[in-house]
Amino acid sequence: MRILIVEDEVKLASLIRRGLREEGFLADVAIKGEDALWMAGTTDYDVLVLDVMLPGIDGLETCKRLRADGVRTPILMLTAKGEVSDRIEGLNVGADDYLTKPFAFGELVARLHALGRRGDVERLPVLEVGDLRLDPVTHRVWREQEEIELSAKEFLLLATLMRHPGAALSRQQLLEHAWDSEYEAQSNVVDVYIRYLRDKVDRPFGRSSIETVRGVGYRLINEPEPPIDDLQRPLG
Ligand code: CA
Repeated sequence: MRILIVEDEVKLASLIRRGLREEGFLADVAIKGEDALWMAGTTDYDVLVLDVMLPGIDGLETCKRLRADGVRTPILMLTAKGEVSDRIEGLNVGADDYLTKPFAFGELVARLHALGRRGDVERLPVLEVGDLRLDPVTHRVWREQEEIELSAKEFLLLATLMRHPGAALSRQQLLEHAWDSEYEAQSNVVDVYIRYLRDKVDRPFGRSSIETVRGVGYRLINEPEPPIDDLQRPLG
């Protein structure tokens, strides 16, 4: 796998490059977003690691321009500690995943492997579970044909559930993906936001797709659509 690391902190960038090479990756470094644009346009990378904070055009703008140029390489954003707005913005402009600094090197390697595999198949940017759809690029959500307005946190929480349909996710896992680190001890905040989500994506549609998993947390199921009354009666 060939990785492009876009990071202006030269020491960190070369540390990552050295580590990745030891892991058997091919790794290049760009220290400016502008450099990343032409490098990604001319070399077939498997994953781009893109720091948000860059001189010149920042990581978000770089990501946006790459997508506008038709570069579909998976992008892993490096965001500052606890900057939820950066993560949301990153997903908005077409990033596929994010990692909060400081991070463990092993975590970076695991994410790169996952993204590299994803890049092999046809990329499906819109998440779908049953008739629930979420577009991470445009930040929009629909149930059936109806668009649903979600807050930033509700959106991240739903996106996390939709990336793992059917899987039981612990409150801790949900916190790590959708919240700042200062919320780590307050897992009841997840319960509060799950309630908000249910009120928006389930209840108005007569659904109960977000299930409570006793002793664990929550899971999003692909629930069949409710029966249409007319079809319950004999036809003809
Ligand atoms: Ca930086």
